[in-house]
Amino acid sequence: MNKKCKQCLETKDIYDFARTRDSYGKVKYLTLCRACKSANVSKSRKASKHIEIITNQDTVEHAKDAFVDDPRAINEILVGKVVRQPTYVPGDSND
Ligand SMILES: [Zn+2]
Repeated sequence: MNKKCKQCLETKDIYDFARTRDSYGKVKYLTLCRACKSANVSKSRKASKHIEIITNQDTVEHAKDAFVDDPRAINEILVGKVVRQPTYVPGDSND
């Protein structure tokens, strides 16, 4: 007996499909073949591994003293931002 896999759309032998029983005890075959099913599982495992890496907090980066203000920023709060570059524009407009 053959059955068509819903993912790879190939017609395969029924023994290439995982077998389960429904709540009435009747034997049922899954709609995905074993190869597709195992591929999906490995894909989702890889994805969850990536998520785990992303959600893991870096202790150094999230430490309370991780961000230190630049010492110039303190002066900037007291005096305001000072730009010491001349506003000279080459040309005759400065004369
Ligand atoms: Zn398949």
